[in-house]
Amino acid sequence: MKRIQRAAGAVVGSAVGDALGAPFEFGPPGAFSARFPAPGAGGEMCGGGGWDPGEATDDTQMAVLVAESLLERDGLDLPDIFARFQRWAASEPKDIGLQTEDVLTNGMPWDLAAALHFQVSQRAAGNGSLMRASASAVYFAAAGRETTMDAARRIAALTHGDRAAWEGTAIFHELIRLTFKDTAPLTALPDILALVHPGHRGRYATVLAPDWHPDQATEFNGAVWPCLGSAVWALRTTASFEDAIRAAIDLGGDTDTVAAVTGGLAGAYYGLDAIPARWTKPLHVPLPGFDGRVLHLADLLHLAHRLTTTPAMC
Ligand SMILES: [Mg+2]
Repeated sequence: MKRIQRAAGAVVGSAVGDALGAPFEFGPPGAFSARFPAPGAGGEMCGGGGWDPGEATDDTQMAVLVAESLLERDGLDLPDIFARFQRWAASEPKDIGLQTEDVLTNGMPWDLAAALHFQVSQRAAGNGSLMRASASAVYFAAAGRETTMDAARRIAALTHGDRAAWEGTAIFHELIRLTFKDTAPLTALPDILALVHPGHRGRYATVLAPDWHPDQATEFNGAVWPCLGSAVWALRTTASFEDAIRAAIDLGGDTDTVAAVTGGLAGAYYGLDAIPARWTKPLHVPLPGFDGRVLHLADLLHLAHRLTTTPAMC
């Protein structure tokens, strides 16, 4: 499969999962398939809970902010990404993670804000850095394993002081990189786990094990471990993009983010053409704080193209 198919699949797939999952956020398991029993029937991009049909949430909005920083700053400019996040957070986005909001609005400098928040709260292992990683994973894929995992950790650390969030985001980046190389990404999980910080390896080994099921999660799936584990489970136990997304949303809980992470992985794996057009057509990504801009499918495709064709700089 061509690289651009996979790159566009990752970027658009994550946004599609986000927009499909948003109306079901904090709902019970099985709500999606109760409402849409037959795969392929249509109408799933329904909106609700304050979201318009096809409207992507903070997951995709932040992924776009990261993408535009990487492209406009010719590489990883952490203070610039942080400044874009702050500008966005100050513009009252419809949704923003509690931890992310705290870090972006506490007035501390970019390189201290997340660490200080973690020191005080001792809770910073949310899925909020994993959810926004699709674009950066595409951008850094060509730069190799070490570079992409390192970049993932550093972008995650802007808002999440807990290394657990960094490691989960790094695993996601590496899974996308391997998929781009036409490698079956899930068979590589043991190798990827060997690259995870030893203090965090055990917990990821548990949720990424072939026989792990989201029912076994010990935290709400707004935490980084079950979120990544559930996305990998959804990819592993289904055979199409559509079914992976359905399985992810049907888990209930933090449905937009679990489906955004699933959509990134499944979009890269199956490619853009496997994403139903009835899902990509109404897709749109508002960018609060950025002059009322709203990105549509063509803009996301353009972004994915630039992310794959621009050499990654750190
Ligand atoms: Mg969201």
